[in-house]
Amino acid sequence: MMYDSIKGLLIEAGSIDELAEKTGINKENLHKTIERYNELCEKGVDEDFGKDPATLIPMTEPPYYAIEESGACLTTVSGLKVNDRSQVLDTEGVAIEGLYALGNTSGSMFFGTYPHHISAVSHGRCLCFGYLVGRTLAGLE
Ligand SMILES: Cc1cc2nc3c(=O)[nH]c(=O)nc-3n(C[C@H](O)[C@H](O)[C@H](O)COP(=O)(O)OP(=O)(O)OC[C@H]3O[C@@H](n4cnc5c(N)ncnc54)[C@H](O)[C@@H]3O)c2cc1C
Repeated sequence: MMYDSIKGLLIEAGSIDELAEKTGINKENLHKTIERYNELCEKGVDEDFGKDPATLIPMTEPPYYAIEESGACLTTVSGLKVNDRSQVLDTEGVAIEGLYALGNTSGSMFFGTYPHHISAVSHGRCLCFGYLVGRTLAGLE
């Protein structure tokens, strides 16, 4: 299932050289990195990054795959404090007239914890409070 969901994004190669060419990664460095990784797999201890030994699987058999990774904002645990109308609060806790913060631009909701066991808790609050502020600004609330 995981493979099917990402296969369109994967770069596949029959050799390390081909993978280096297709990704534009320095060939010599890629070989060195994989050799070092395979050495650690053989030792059964990842001395470089502390990877779980159960997942130390050597890269010795093609096909080889690469995928571009990048950072993304999960949620904001601090950030701008807001009240229940999504109005941003000043340092005294007083609402600043005309200034609203929603979604990841606002804090308060996930201060101290981000409960993963509640489905769509972040998307839900983005949509819900965005809708409510939209109604307020349109004069409907
Ligand atoms: C890997 C991952 C998994 C997640 N899983 C879940 C989940 O299962 N359930 C859940 O509820 N939440 C999940 N989240 C969290 C959720 O996706 C975010 O909290 C939510 O998308 C935040 O919405 P937002 O509108 O505040 O910000 P964003 O979705 O980040 O939207 C901000 C938008 O503003 C645009 N933008 C930025 N700067 C500018 C600019 N200067 N001018 C114009 N546009 C700009 C960006 O391109 C972006 O489109 C996940 C997040 C990540 C990263």
